[in-house]
Amino acid sequence: MVTTSFKTTKSEEIFAAAQKLMPGGVSSPVRAFKSVGGQPIVFDRVKGAYIWDVDDNQYIDYVGTWGPAICGHAHPEVIEALHKALEKGTSFGAPSYLENVLAEMVIDAVPSIEMVRFVNSGTEACMAVLRLMRAFTGRDKIIKFEGCYHGHADMFLVKAGSGVATLGLPDSPGVPKSATQNTLTAPFNDLEAVKALFEENPGQIAGVILEPVVGNAGFIPPDGGFLEGLRVLTKENGALLIFDEVMTGFRIAYGGAQEKFGITPDLTTLGKIIGGGLPVGAYGGRRDIMSMVAPSGPMYQAGTLSGNPLAMTAGIKTLELLQKSGTYEYLDRITKKLADGLLQIAKEKGHAVCGGNISGMFGLFFTSGPVHNYEEAKKSDLAKFSRFHRGMLERGIYLAPSQFEAGFTSVAHTEEDIDRTLQAAAEVISSL
Ligand SMILES: *Cc1c(COP(=O)(O)O)cnc(C)c1O
Repeated sequence: MVTTSFKTTKSEEIFAAAQKLMPGGVSSPVRAFKSVGGQPIVFDRVKGAYIWDVDDNQYIDYVGTWGPAICGHAHPEVIEALHKALEKGTSFGAPSYLENVLAEMVIDAVPSIEMVRFVNSGTEACMAVLRLMRAFTGRDKIIKFEGCYHGHADMFLVKAGSGVATLGLPDSPGVPKSATQNTLTAPFNDLEAVKALFEENPGQIAGVILEPVVGNAGFIPPDGGFLEGLRVLTKENGALLIFDEVMTGFRIAYGGAQEKFGITPDLTTLGKIIGGGLPVGAYGGRRDIMSMVAPSGPMYQAGTLSGNPLAMTAGIKTLELLQKSGTYEYLDRITKKLADGLLQIAKEKGHAVCGGNISGMFGLFFTSGPVHNYEEAKKSDLAKFSRFHRGMLERGIYLAPSQFEAGFTSVAHTEEDIDRTLQAAAEVISSL
């Protein structure tokens, strides 16, 4: 039942004011509800699996601040560790022991990473890794996949899915053609397309970067053999393989997609979870490549707040919590129950849907599918998704306000939360 108490008066007031103060009223575009319609909800506080808005509505949260909240929001142990760290100050601009601790944890966890550099966001990590792949190989061209997101740096803003994609035309005004002309694109899960790009650009491609499980075009897992094939193709062509695990790192397994699928890339980017809710990114990989990074080598990359003690502390505590045995089995169990439940309900009501989960990452498309790439994802019925999103919101379930985003669970989500979510979904889907 829609609670008659669902009111968003204060949210609307605050957002109306925000729109005069900040472009679109937000600090990051997807937060505005542009693709689902209606006004975004303005939040007041978070705890565990829940978020509360300024009108005091409570929601079960499947955004988890876009992934970092894997232990649940504001975990008491993370908060306590942050309180202690705060007493020692907020930034040193100099080495701290905390960086060693988190670096060691990341190196122990992620198979490809022998050395790591901390930065402040996933975008920064991807920018740096791009420079590094070019510096190491002495080649300028890179291959990315349509619908994959690697942050907002110029070189990665190549329009996904349309004819301009193959021409390397910029996706946003303000991005010069010169910034993207070396960015080649291929459809996800299409090894033949990648092979063709290598053949057309012999000795010119520095590397291939991808989300090993796509989360930024909706949830799209790799087909069997795709990641293996990329590993072989890059090796054959003297190019590097880069897994952008900003989303999948510590999410689909403790060691990320590379542990889950047993494929070791040359370099990896991380973010989201390793900051435990504070701003952190990182890139790392083979020691011989990472040794090129300044001051150990000539490739320049720096950051005033990089390795920040508060961010390191939240990351360390979050990874410690994730090390508890059974974490990923639990995430997989409840998330599978959610994803399978949603599919079953929608199919019973006669809707064309497809989707699934890997551990605590899931997605549902309103198309019969299967979805292997961005073009196929775009066949989803977006109007139907918008109505689904709105109905869930009114029933206290907060989903990402876009069909082209994955959903996330946390260890704080209970079986009961999943049951409540499925109950709400049954009502909403009946009315679509
Ligand atoms: C979120 C994300 C980024 C960008 O990270 P920011 O911290 O938002 O800059 C890059 N790559 C992937 C795969 C992401 O999911």
